[in-house]
Amino acid sequence: MAAFGWFWRAMGAQSERNQKKSLKTVAAARAAMEEMRGWSDAQVAQRGREAANTQGEGKHPVVLASLALAAERTMGLQPFDVQLQGVQRLLAGDVIHMATGEGKTLVGAMAATGFAMSGKRVHVVTVNDYLAARDAQWMRPLVEFFGVSVSHVIDEMDAPQRRHAYACDVVYAPVTEIGFDHLRDNQVTRREDEVQVHADVALVDEADSVLVDEALVPLVLAGSVSAQQSTGEITAAVSHLREGRHYTVDADRRNVFLTDEGAAEIERRLGIDSLYSEDAIGSVLVRVNLALHAQALLTRDVHYLVQDGKVQLIDASRGRVADLQRWPDGLQAAVEAKEGLAVSDGGRILDQITLQALMSRYPTVCGMTGTAVEAVDQLRQFYGLTVSVIEPNVPSQRIDHSDAVYATAQLRNRAVVEEIAQAHAKGQPVLVGTHDVAESEALAAALEKRGISVAVLNAKNDEQEAAIVAEAGKASRVTVSTQMAGRGTDITLGEGVAELGGLKVIGTSRHRSSRLDHQLRGRSGRQGDPGESLFFVSLEDDLITTGSDGAQVSAQPDQAGRIEEKRVHDFIAHCQRVTEGQLLTIHAQTWKYNKLLADQREIIDERRASLLDTDAAWQQLAQAAPERAAELEHLNAETKQQAAREIMLFHLDDEWAEHLAIMDDVRESIHLRAIAKETPIDEFHRIAVREFKDLAQRAVEKSVETFRSVLIDDSGAHLEDAGRSRPSATWTYMVSDNPLSGGGGGALSTFESFIS
Ligand code: ADP
Ligand code: MG
Repeated sequence: MAAFGWFWRAMGAQSERNQKKSLKTVAAARAAMEEMRGWSDAQVAQRGREAANTQGEGKHPVVLASLALAAERTMGLQPFDVQLQGVQRLLAGDVIHMATGEGKTLVGAMAATGFAMSGKRVHVVTVNDYLAARDAQWMRPLVEFFGVSVSHVIDEMDAPQRRHAYACDVVYAPVTEIGFDHLRDNQVTRREDEVQVHADVALVDEADSVLVDEALVPLVLAGSVSAQQSTGEITAAVSHLREGRHYTVDADRRNVFLTDEGAAEIERRLGIDSLYSEDAIGSVLVRVNLALHAQALLTRDVHYLVQDGKVQLIDASRGRVADLQRWPDGLQAAVEAKEGLAVSDGGRILDQITLQALMSRYPTVCGMTGTAVEAVDQLRQFYGLTVSVIEPNVPSQRIDHSDAVYATAQLRNRAVVEEIAQAHAKGQPVLVGTHDVAESEALAAALEKRGISVAVLNAKNDEQEAAIVAEAGKASRVTVSTQMAGRGTDITLGEGVAELGGLKVIGTSRHRSSRLDHQLRGRSGRQGDPGESLFFVSLEDDLITTGSDGAQVSAQPDQAGRIEEKRVHDFIAHCQRVTEGQLLTIHAQTWKYNKLLADQREIIDERRASLLDTDAAWQQLAQAAPERAAELEHLNAETKQQAAREIMLFHLDDEWAEHLAIMDDVRESIHLRAIAKETPIDEFHRIAVREFKDLAQRAVEKSVETFRSVLIDDSGAHLEDAGRSRPSATWTYMVSDNPLSGGGGGALSTFESFIS
């Protein structure tokens, strides 16, 4: 507990009591295990299930004991005390802090099984497809020991396969698949077409990543098409604007603002009277701002790549090409126009949900990560979750060096190459964490020039990445990777590597949050292995410019340009605390915008459910248009009800999509209203509530209209004839987290100096 003494003081007595209690439970579980040791598999499973379904504290040791015995018998793994303690805290609904390599996969599977034994359905949320499939297969024998069914869901599965998988008690799936299936299910017009069954528990692996880093990423379901007309025209006009004169950019390069002169210039070029007139807000002005954002704040090869005639986002938190992601439609189109590419059809957004809202749908959320301690505030504030720290089974031997600080990025970059070359010369493996793909490639090029061969991870294939990362601990390996690449893969040390000091992890700069630094550090020193970690910092880094708020620090570099003064190190720590605070504020504020829409979405959900599960649709339409109902007398009740259902669901979903589009525009133009002295969030709420109030009524009125006019016969309502058909094709994507707040860009324009 020594390592986290400060943490316990901060967390107060409650956690400490929980900790003591769970240690006692583990001791009791060990005793129960001895008692059950001679029992048959069936007896152990039976006893575990019985205990799981009783009330009272006494059941916990028995449940743990049966799970531990099952792990021994089915997988040949004897769970450590700390693992049992982790299982216990998960079952109590906490997020557990447990270091990399401590065996969280097993802990998670035991807890999921424990929940399932008491009749709860569990979604084990993974960060990608590869880990969902790997973990479900790996843990299957343990879970099935108790007669609990287990499956996984991955991208390539079709609807029947998904339906089959979701019917299981324990389902391993990436958060994206769970979210997209939820969105698609909310478009069905018959219950039996749904694929997902709602689960009672979400058990989230790499919990801080899903619940904090990507919490506000919206998952989007889009359909049908509409062309983006004059995006090219607007982009052309904006390309004539100059920074300083026509627009200004704030200090941390998150926001760009048109000056009066810039606005006048745009008005002249587009031939419009005023950008700020009421009807321009929400249309032209919004798109001008997007085009300006694309031009001034987004840099090719740092924020996005252009490949095969397409813009591909670089994921800010993972620093690699993002598979499923795109920016919100307007911004995507603006960047495409800036690059002279064909402007893609954004389609119409049918529905969307943020990961945070998705997770909030589960009655119980728990999770595990190596970096929960640094996310305590967010987990409590946004999910009401408590963090339990689980000590490592064998104390870490990793040496965390203090930062190597340099005055300039160029000096720092040289030192990074030098440091890697030195470790490499003695055969010590090195894993380097960079901020983005461009930096990875520049660094790799610089190393290759020194004759050092490098494995660079920016592949889009998680399985390949896992295979490469798994080798990163072998002698003489140099692996360059962005933050998250190859997560979930165990890095074991090659022969003789322990004697060389173990795996050396190098960060090319500190992240905006110390939690991300720790995620990288944690790659080394697993299960008591030796290891080292070293972060480089230059006083030109984004972290410093953003976090210093203009303050300067004077320093006395040594001959190599390195700065050792404690004052400077304190200053860097201060800058990081400032940026952490900024991130938390942005999260809290963005969530305020999202929360209201999430609540409204719940109301739509309930309305959908009643239309799907009852004959409310027919009742309502027949009452509003009795003459039409009489005409349909000859049809059987089932056909009539389904026709009414499809009509009402069509209009409800259509109005909801419209509402989302309106609120999207409002949100993009809302900061302009702040100029008019309105509080943006209040104004947003006011409009959202007003627009939503009429939505349900409007959907009913339109449904009555359609009911009166559309052809309804033995084969149902012919909505397509009336131009009321649902989109024939739909697709899904993630919107990049906070595109309008910058992010990433840690190496902005400094990476060239690796090569020089
Ligand atoms: P984490 O997710 O915590 O980083 P993993 O679940 O990937 O760690 O496990 C790391 C390694 O530890 C795996 O190879 C796993 O088989 C092994 N392991 C887990 N629990 C035990 C145990 N009780 N005894 C021996 N090996 C274990
Ligand atoms: Mg793991």
